[in-house]
Amino acid sequence: MSAYRLPDGRQITGALTIRTGARRPEAKYECLVCETTETVRGVESVTEFVRTIRTTHPATCPGVPQKTRNEPVAA
Ligand SMILES: [Zn+2]
Repeated sequence: MSAYRLPDGRQITGALTIRTGARRPEAKYECLVCETTETVRGVESVTEFVRTIRTTHPATCPGVPQKTRNEPVAA
């Protein structure tokens, strides 16, 4: 799998899923570029993960060429 290119040129590079309503909320980020999945559980962990993952993962993603790592990620 790889990034999904949109008609306007932007790319979808990952999917962020947040599961609430459970006793312990869960957030999962699936990178379409490197096929890594990161998961966290618990209110505080999910809150921080959701706030930062779209910046932190692309900054270290082994599938993203170095020169494009600072470009904005499609929301
Ligand atoms: Zn990645």
